[in-house]
Amino acid sequence: MERHDWVVLGAGISGASLAAAAARSGASVLVLEAQPHPGGSLASVSRPNDAWFELGAHTAYNSYRSFVSALEASPAPPTWVPRGPSILRLLDGDRVLPGKNLGLLARRLGKLELLRAVPRWLGNRPDGRTVREYYGRIVGARNFDRVLSPILSAVPSQRADNFPAEMLFKRRERRADVPKSFTLPGGLGTAVELLLANRGIEVRTRFQARSVERIPGGGFRVRSADGHAVEARHLAFALAPRTTSRLIEPLAPTASALAAGIAQVELHSIGLSLPSDATRLPAATFLIPLADSFHSIVTRDPVPHPDRRAFTFHFRPDVSDSACRERIARILGVPWERLSELADVRERRTSLPSPVLGHADRIAEFDRRIAGEDFAVTGNWFAGLSIEDCVLRSASEWRRIGER
Ligand SMILES: Cc1cc2nc3c(=O)[nH]c(=O)nc-3n(C[C@H](O)[C@H](O)[C@H](O)COP(=O)(O)OP(=O)(O)OC[C@H]3O[C@@H](n4cnc5c(N)ncnc54)[C@H](O)[C@@H]3O)c2cc1C
Repeated sequence: MERHDWVVLGAGISGASLAAAAARSGASVLVLEAQPHPGGSLASVSRPNDAWFELGAHTAYNSYRSFVSALEASPAPPTWVPRGPSILRLLDGDRVLPGKNLGLLARRLGKLELLRAVPRWLGNRPDGRTVREYYGRIVGARNFDRVLSPILSAVPSQRADNFPAEMLFKRRERRADVPKSFTLPGGLGTAVELLLANRGIEVRTRFQARSVERIPGGGFRVRSADGHAVEARHLAFALAPRTTSRLIEPLAPTASALAAGIAQVELHSIGLSLPSDATRLPAATFLIPLADSFHSIVTRDPVPHPDRRAFTFHFRPDVSDSACRERIARILGVPWERLSELADVRERRTSLPSPVLGHADRIAEFDRRIAGEDFAVTGNWFAGLSIEDCVLRSASEWRRIGER
């Protein structure tokens, strides 16, 4: 039976960063990925003439120190591609509202309510508060519901009102020698490729882990949906909470139940790359609807291409394909029939964790339950969803097991 030092389940940024840490210590690592390509939510679409675009994550920051360090330690040194200044615009139906960024925000907020909120700023801390409670105290509840809620919901691509406030944005120390916000040549998906290029890593795609068992005498056996099996001394789960819960159930039933209690939301992302002159939509980084069937449109404008623009619409999962197409056509101002001739269209469905108050306690209990185990559990459902949160979690799991 095929045996490795480590088997890592899931080739997103969490799995790739843990695999890279293990490989750098000299271990043999097999990464198993259900999809035809690694990357997970780092889902860059490659196009000829550098016309790549992102279906998933789009921005890394110089405050992502662990992510930056992990890439710097990869065999081919990374090239940081700076992103231009961020331009946030709001959509009211099909109409792009005039203005951008803070000026636009200031214009939309009710001034009287904002003034009344000022005394509540004192002692307002994110800890133990939902996003709605925390930001509602800053701008007023009505202002929050009308203006801030849609904007903040664009951050985790789901309604963020009930998120623990401390999970949404984090203050981290920055690296002055790296651009403030950046991507990589070909898009952020390149990051996963760079990490998986570490010597000692083998990647096997189209391997959907179906079950996991302990081998008497030490190690683990992983079986795929189609009956293949591999063995490893150590195992890492770098998957969504629900899948992790199902797979670890025979190994750690209480931890499994804790992971099962973390909600997930589905997301349907549709990206299009089209000739720049095909749409009159103004330059923007993010276009956020005040109320619509999608959470946001993310563009490639901050990394401009000489003759193409790209737009990725992040739809709620319950919106029909025809309704998605109708919204895209209306907003870009190009009939769908014309778009399907002009544009390169790609789509992706994924699920994201949806943490609520008490999440940190649940994770602390989860970690107590797996503390003595010799398998690692990482992902975007621990301290936060960002790329940096994933890499930090993988690093701490690597320290817990790999450096024992
Ligand atoms: C639209 C969008 C935009 C985002 N934008 C940003 C951003 O700009 N900046 C930022 O910091 N963060 C961003 N995020 C968040 C961040 O990208 C994700 O949280 C992070 O990439 C998740 O990585 P992961 O490896 O934990 O999970 P995933 O990327 O989901 O990877 C898990 C992998 O496991 C595989 N898998 C699932 N089941 C199995 C199985 N049974 N066997 C084997 N493999 C399996 C999946 O196919 C997948 O490849 C964004 C997320 C989304 C969805």
